Amino acid sequence: MSILVLGGAGYIGSHAVHQLIDAGEQVVIVDNLETGHKEALHPKATFYQGDIRKIDFLRSVFQKESIESVIHFAANSLVGESVEKPLKYFDNNVYGTQVLLQVMAEQNVKQIVFSSTAAVYGEPKVVPIQESEQTKPLNPYGETKLTMEKMCHWASQAHGIKYVSLRYFNVAGARESGEIGEDHRPETHLIPIILEAALEKRSHVTIFGDDYHTPDGTCIRDYVHVVDLIDAHLLALQYLRDGGDSDVFNIGSNQGFSVKEMIHAAREVTGKEIIAKNGERRIGDPSTLVASSTKAKEVLGWNPTKTNARKILEDAWRWHVAHPYGYDKEGIKE
Ligand code: UDP
Repeated sequence: MSILVLGGAGYIGSHAVHQLIDAGEQVVIVDNLETGHKEALHPKATFYQGDIRKIDFLRSVFQKESIESVIHFAANSLVGESVEKPLKYFDNNVYGTQVLLQVMAEQNVKQIVFSSTAAVYGEPKVVPIQESEQTKPLNPYGETKLTMEKMCHWASQAHGIKYVSLRYFNVAGARESGEIGEDHRPETHLIPIILEAALEKRSHVTIFGDDYHTPDGTCIRDYVHVVDLIDAHLLALQYLRDGGDSDVFNIGSNQGFSVKEMIHAAREVTGKEIIAKNGERRIGDPSTLVASSTKAKEVLGWNPTKTNARKILEDAWRWHVAHPYGYDKEGIKE
């Protein structure tokens, strides 16, 4: 039996595939390669190129392969873009998941682990955020992820599909071996942008707002190492295999760093100057997101060992130095 990884050519999905194969699992990947990279595909995984919204395509994969469970990463995930193009997000994230659940119900596949986000909380009332915090997304990205969670809830009631939703905080870093890493086009995430500035591929980093109600005025986020994040997926899969009930877990570090603090830490790790300039706030950004991941530790047995700002920056920096053009061998990455 195989694990079906949807979005297995993307940044987080490719890390999942590598760790699943390291753990001795058989893996089938589906990816439309819209944002994923074929260079990130694992040679031992079976790959189908296609879109999860195409029901005949998706059904054919389930019919050809013997799928035990699904890990679902195939979604758009940029807060800023989601504000500009909300319908794109509802189409890919919500409708894509609807088609997936329909095929899973038809094909009798009963286990799914999928990526949700801290963006479901909006501006939290209490920090660190627990799973019981109210969910009031401030942007379409968070809204689509919350809708995916609700759809999974009702599909689990009706069709017996068990799910684990992992609400990611800010994922960064890379596998230590350095063969895969973060390569978004265009890049919008803070850590790769800081490191591209360190590599002088950008003149500077723009700080999106320095007038938030935080100690230094810049937004506070909780950064989690991608390898620890994927460990949580493997544990969630085992939890479902052991008969665990559908549930939702925060995956973060329980520690907040401001944008300015991350830039400062990156200067120390890289030894580079990294010019930062203050800019406007980005629409849809909450000021502070810090997780309580106690539930994931207690219920799933999650034990993050790489999640600290320095280690995340060191591993991301190693990938960026070795792959200054991302997965391109040469040329200029946007
Ligand atoms: N950010 C920034 N400059 C950038 C990119 C991001 O100041 O060029 C800030 C952003 O406003 C947020 C934090 O860095 O407070 C993390 O943003 P990112 O896009 O990496 O992740 P998000 O929190 O949106 O998932």
